[in-house]
Amino acid sequence: MTASVTQRIDLAPTRSCNPELAAGPWAFDSQPGYGPGASQADPMPSPVTHPGQLPQAYREMSSDQLHDRIRRAKAILAERLVILGHFYQRDEVVQHADFLGDSYQLAKAALSKPEAEHIVFCGVHFMAETADILSAADQQVILPNLAAGCSMADMADEDSVETAWEEICEVYGVDPHHVTPGPDGKLPILPVTYMNSSAALKAFCGQHGGIVCTSSNASAVLEWAFERAHRVLFFPDQHLGRNTAKAMGVPLEQMPLWNPRRPLGGNNPADLQEAKVLLWHGFCSVHKRFNVRQIAKARAEHPGCRVIVHPESPMPVVDAADAAGSTDAIRKYVAASSPGDVIAIGTEINLVNRLAAEYPDRTIFCLDPVICPCSTMYRIHPGYLAWVLEELVEGRTPNQISVSADVAQPARVALDRMLAAVPR
Ligand code: SF4
Repeated sequence: MTASVTQRIDLAPTRSCNPELAAGPWAFDSQPGYGPGASQADPMPSPVTHPGQLPQAYREMSSDQLHDRIRRAKAILAERLVILGHFYQRDEVVQHADFLGDSYQLAKAALSKPEAEHIVFCGVHFMAETADILSAADQQVILPNLAAGCSMADMADEDSVETAWEEICEVYGVDPHHVTPGPDGKLPILPVTYMNSSAALKAFCGQHGGIVCTSSNASAVLEWAFERAHRVLFFPDQHLGRNTAKAMGVPLEQMPLWNPRRPLGGNNPADLQEAKVLLWHGFCSVHKRFNVRQIAKARAEHPGCRVIVHPESPMPVVDAADAAGSTDAIRKYVAASSPGDVIAIGTEINLVNRLAAEYPDRTIFCLDPVICPCSTMYRIHPGYLAWVLEELVEGRTPNQISVSADVAQPARVALDRMLAAVPR
């Protein structure tokens, strides 16, 4: 059955999880400071340009005016500028990006433009930090709105991870500051952080023999880790860790959940001895909304439809789906489908809507009937993009994300290990 426009409109979510999302992001960004997921010790850019300071003029411009200004500034800055856009950004922003991708692809894109003085990152804070760490010293990374963070990244802060590490190392009888391999040449434990974490936690991994992963290369990273250690501490997303390790054959009994608010994470020492993957109690507020009832409903209403979900979704959802993969894998899955196919997708609504528009001869819809975009990605609006670009044209650098050398150096070690772990 070929999808008609009417069918696609019928399938589109009609309710929003938060009606306030219809307002401009500046309506919520009145407090100075970073959004969620910033490293605890991050200095504010100087001179301080906090989110509430988006000049009034940019809030009042029409969409056409903002796009004209963005295009004009881009033309002036030319090769001195590169704009990176995450798949979850709204279309009004994505249309101006030089590179569109997931966090893994954008990390590599940042490396591919050494001639650009300014890297404007239309994503969230941890992505801009990563771009700063990977880019050359003379490149500036700019986050158009400092409030664009990641609520999942906030679920694992440096203090909690340090405390957990000390408790875990005590169980395994090793010095938390100097974990060494046993007689078999393997470490008792090694930390793995998802890309969605602060630079400080990436540095923690670099300092403790660990590595960063993305949803594209999580299984390759876990294989890398198990070659070097008996077990891993995986943070902050429990679902990506569980789904990936389960697909590799790790039994659920060997994947205890680590709740940072409870002694020993809520575990007993015997269970920790048996553990292969200690899963931090973190999750993505967007992907945890998907459930198996939505999949059953999609299949009942569209017999023969296929379901693909992001691995940040809960395990029962991944198990019930036909496929699971990173945002890029989801795009490829849709690209490989045929006209007339029906595909239900469990990931952020901006990407799903873009795919539906890109493939009008297929029926593509989001599993969640409620519009629930990533509320932190949403903080990037064409108004902020126009503002930062025009500031750059004037020779001023607003909202620069700069990771200090003592954090950047060990974080780079963990990121380089990640870049070497090629997705399968
Ligand atoms: S979609 Fe989830 S994990 Fe991604 S940036 Fe938003 S809150 Fe963070």
